[in-house]
Amino acid sequence: MALIAGAFYSARAVLSHSFAGIEADEARQSIERAQQALQADLHQLDAVVEDYALWDDVYHFVERGNPEFMASGFTRRSLDNIHVDIVWLIDRTGRTVAQLAMNNTLPGGLGQLGPATSARLLSYVSLLTRPGGRMVPRAHLVRMPEGALAIAAAPIVGSSQPETSVGTLVFGRYLHAGLIARLEETSQAPIRFTLLDERGKPLLSVPQAVSDWLANPGKRADLLVQAQDPATLGCHALLRDIKGHPLAVISTTVSRGALQIGKRTITWVVATLMAGFAVVVVLLVSLLNRSGRSRAAAQRQWLDQQRKLLRLTRRDALTGLPNRVHLQRLLPRLLSRATRDGSRLALLYLDLDHFKNVNDSLGHGMGDKLLAAVAQRLRISVAAHDLVVRTGGDEFVIVATMLPDAAVVNSIAERIRAAFAVPLDVDGITLSVAPSIGISVYPEDGSDPEQLLKHADIALYTAKDRGRGNHQFYTPEMNARLRERLGLERALRLALDNNELSLEYQPCFDLQTLRTVSLEALIRWRTADGTYIPPSRFIPIAEQSNLIVEIGDWVLRHVCLQLSEWQRERLPLVPVSVNISVRQFEKTPLASVVAGLAQELGIDASLLHFEITESVAMQNSQQQLGALQALRNLGSRILIDDFGTGYSSLSYLKHLPIDTLKIDRAFVRDMAADANDAAIVRAIVGVAKSLGLLLVAEGIESAEQLDCLRKLGCECGQGFYFSPPVSAHACRNILWQLRGARSLPEVPRLRLLQPTS
Ligand code: C2E
Ligand code: MG
Ligand code: MG
Repeated sequence: MALIAGAFYSARAVLSHSFAGIEADEARQSIERAQQALQADLHQLDAVVEDYALWDDVYHFVERGNPEFMASGFTRRSLDNIHVDIVWLIDRTGRTVAQLAMNNTLPGGLGQLGPATSARLLSYVSLLTRPGGRMVPRAHLVRMPEGALAIAAAPIVGSSQPETSVGTLVFGRYLHAGLIARLEETSQAPIRFTLLDERGKPLLSVPQAVSDWLANPGKRADLLVQAQDPATLGCHALLRDIKGHPLAVISTTVSRGALQIGKRTITWVVATLMAGFAVVVVLLVSLLNRSGRSRAAAQRQWLDQQRKLLRLTRRDALTGLPNRVHLQRLLPRLLSRATRDGSRLALLYLDLDHFKNVNDSLGHGMGDKLLAAVAQRLRISVAAHDLVVRTGGDEFVIVATMLPDAAVVNSIAERIRAAFAVPLDVDGITLSVAPSIGISVYPEDGSDPEQLLKHADIALYTAKDRGRGNHQFYTPEMNARLRERLGLERALRLALDNNELSLEYQPCFDLQTLRTVSLEALIRWRTADGTYIPPSRFIPIAEQSNLIVEIGDWVLRHVCLQLSEWQRERLPLVPVSVNISVRQFEKTPLASVVAGLAQELGIDASLLHFEITESVAMQNSQQQLGALQALRNLGSRILIDDFGTGYSSLSYLKHLPIDTLKIDRAFVRDMAADANDAAIVRAIVGVAKSLGLLLVAEGIESAEQLDCLRKLGCECGQGFYFSPPVSAHACRNILWQLRGARSLPEVPRLRLLQPTS
């Protein structure tokens, strides 16, 4: 706005200045016109005096004298006509021949000049006469006691003697009101005439600027243009007498109306322009502002969105807990703080045991709800300043901070596990989950986030390895074990190609007749250097690395090959149980593989039995149940291995497409001595019977155990008491002994299962 105001005033000033210039020019022209009118009047006086000087009557009068001439030649009327106030005739010697002057007080209006006037006039006339008697051809102004007088002189010559001058004729014309009126008429401007005194001071009142102008002769110019009032511009010209002395000031005025109109117009035009400009500027500014505001708003919105996005990217949508990204961002800061405070920090890496079973059996929706409930329980089981993060799947990380020492971490882990001792209620269903926990402590177990997370992960791995549901602190040995484990995994991959794997078979007996009713195929790994690695060590590794699928295929094929070989050798055949992993259900359509192999090798698929662990059976996913049913449809039987160690509810069993339960050897081992174990076995026998399932006891090592099992009504069993797992070659003998028997022992198939829904 200041800019606009500045522009307005300067534009107005520039235009006003130009108008003032125009106005001053007009005033100057006006006074020049007045001056020219005066000059014209003086020229006219010149011309008149010259005319009269050529008049013969005047010549004769001066030369010879004629007393009536003056009265008849210069009448008041004739002098009024030529605007002459004084007539003065001087002869060649300078003597006054005659003179007369206007005098309104006298009858006839004419009289004589006073002596003072005559003397003054005479002094001027000499100035009009050039040396040699020639007249200065111009009228001049002179100061007279009566006022300013224009005088003009001409030599008196007769029309017949133009060269001979007999004297001088002088006409005088006062600058009185009549003359001023004529000048006004001629110049078309109001004219004021101000006589000055001898010292140049005005005899009438004049504007201060004019008196200053007159009083300052040094800088005095003969023209002054001066604003008189807002509406009038005065212009003054100094008139000098014949001697060059200031005599009078002739003034004129011009109206400043044009300027006023001009100024007003300028003001309006400039104001309009400026207003337009201001409107444009305001519009532009508001547009810019608005666009600035909307840009700022858009920027704010964008930042908000970024922040929201950031929050989203750092938060787990399912549980509302911070996620791995947040952990990665925050952990370095927490570590620096711990360093500063000299406090400890612990990373507790949690993994829910058998969580997959919940997902598979109850569906992913339920799994999600369980995870949210777990998150909530974790959150309340640790301090508010501790960080609880879901890193993915069923994995959580708790960062316990501000710990005085590493010892408190143990109680934190125990507190967390104790929190999970109470089952969770999810949508009215009671679910038990237990976490395995791996712990690393800063600064002992690592100096940076990656190292600490890796070590907590290794500790978790160890916790899982040690039977789950426990917590483990990281130790450097774990690292070594992990390395060893990884080495084992690498070696196992090679083992398949290097023919380091083989199979042994352990016979299963009818506990009443002690006849071999089936064989269980058990895998063996003897490395190239002859080291024996038990399946309990490498099968979990194979399961974790997916190698189990390849190994399972290998086992299945070799069992089939073995059966077809024995078949070719016409040995009495018994079914062979194959242990299969859950992964084999996930990856391969097992039934079609089995059917294909049976057909290819010409064996009966019913000779293949399949052992699955309790947890696999309990998963209850449609896919797995379908796969089991498909196997049974081929005539194969399904056995639940290590029964009793899992967490399944017995009521579940009736929905499963299974034929046999294999009681875990842990119960068999202690049943003779431990009444509880005996009770469990009795209960299992009862369940199996009520569900029409065949019962097999594992790990029978003594006659007492056999006796006990027989009494409880367990039908079949296997164990070192009868035979350890033996090579295929050794199995030949076992099978050979069956030859000649009246009939092959019948493995009772008691139950006709309905497909599960
Ligand atoms: P499992 O299926 O329960 O196999 C029985 C295990 O008990 C065998 O151990 C066997 O040698 C052992 N055993 C048999 N009788 C006795 C006894 O009287 N006392 C004791 N202490 N042990 C006895 P093994 O061969 O070391 O196999 C261990 C586990 O490895 C198996 O347990 C099975 O779960 C798994 N496994 C073995 N072979 C395979 C296979 O080909 N595939 C899969 N997926 N798992 C296999
Ligand atoms: Mg088994
Ligand atoms: Mg077993």
